[in-house]
Amino acid sequence: MEGNYKATFGTESLEEFDGHELVNFFYNKTTGLKGFLAIHNTALGPAIGGTRYWPYGSQEEAMRDALRLSRAMTYKCALARVHFGGGKGVILADVRYPKNRAFISSYARVVNLLRGSFFTGEDVGIDKYDVEVMAKVSPFIIGRRGLAGDPGPWAALGVFYAIEAALESALGTSRIQGRTFAIKGLGKVGGELCHLLTERGGKVIGADIDPSKVRSARKRFPKIRIAPPGAIHKESVDVYCPCAMGGEFTEHTIRQLSCHIVCGAANNQLSSPACGDLLRRAGVIYVPDYVANAGGLINVAGELDKRGYSRARVYRKMRGIKKTVRKILELSAKRRQPANRVADTLAERIFLRRSKKRI
Ligand code: NAD
Repeated sequence: MEGNYKATFGTESLEEFDGHELVNFFYNKTTGLKGFLAIHNTALGPAIGGTRYWPYGSQEEAMRDALRLSRAMTYKCALARVHFGGGKGVILADVRYPKNRAFISSYARVVNLLRGSFFTGEDVGIDKYDVEVMAKVSPFIIGRRGLAGDPGPWAALGVFYAIEAALESALGTSRIQGRTFAIKGLGKVGGELCHLLTERGGKVIGADIDPSKVRSARKRFPKIRIAPPGAIHKESVDVYCPCAMGGEFTEHTIRQLSCHIVCGAANNQLSSPACGDLLRRAGVIYVPDYVANAGGLINVAGELDKRGYSRARVYRKMRGIKKTVRKILELSAKRRQPANRVADTLAERIFLRRSKKRI
């Protein structure tokens, strides 16, 4: 009977469903708000994860994204050593319903329904102004002005530390000067990463589908070279940094890579876990996305620290990213296992052990 139920009922039959603790659909008739909240695992603490606002093709596509992204948050929290679990909110963008104050406030009221089991803030499509609006309605909003603030620059700093660790592992030194980097996506994280790399003498090639992002990158970084978004992954560079959307690596795109290292902020870069094996066989060092991009999480989680937000504590935890990347890459070489599998095993050891204790 259970088998039939699984086969016919929506959420559980999706391949992205991984025993999530909760998946909610929400709808507001007045504002047109529609989307999903997913909580993957709360063994380490209440769920935490940004909210994405995106023109999904269908509700199913949005739910799949919420399932995938919330699961990744559980793994990210475990390896970043923050005491939270994985959650994510996704909102279906629809041109008929503007993302105005009423719309965003109605979403914050949905977050309130979970009474502190889920903390949320920025992600793609949700900016610092939306966060301020939500924070007026809900006490469960993170990344507020005057506290942790915009997570983008912190995510970029984490990626930067991860790049340093990977360079050390691949090329024997973490030196940035004279090295070459290709950044896909020049938004909040990609733009800031470009700043950190060029400031230290790195040579950057960038790409973005949004001409306004390309224009502002050219203005901010006069030495940047711009490549077509569809071909930037083929550039011959030391490090390729995906900082746009997920699903970047397939059998096809992996064959086209011409870099030593892949390390970027985009979530869910591998279209399937098997792509980690392909990257390894191609001789490319892959830093698992959720390890590299944990900086934003570490910073916003600092807002929920019982001792109060401390920038010094956040910096200390951020530097832990370097240590974690080193450990993963060492184990990956020693065990001849792809880095994504090594990272997953390390993370699962942390949150599954706690889950078992709770039962
Ligand atoms: P953003 O929206 O500010 O920037 C993303 C940029 O990518 C945009 O400029 C967009 O035009 C561009 N883009 C989209 N598709 C593209 C394509 N096919 N080719 C080239 N450019 C493309 O988002 P962000 O906050 O910078 O986040 C970037 C990625 O990092 C996302 O996957 C996000 O989930 C992840 N991430 C962000 C944070 C954070 O704190 N902002 C933290 C962790 C992970």
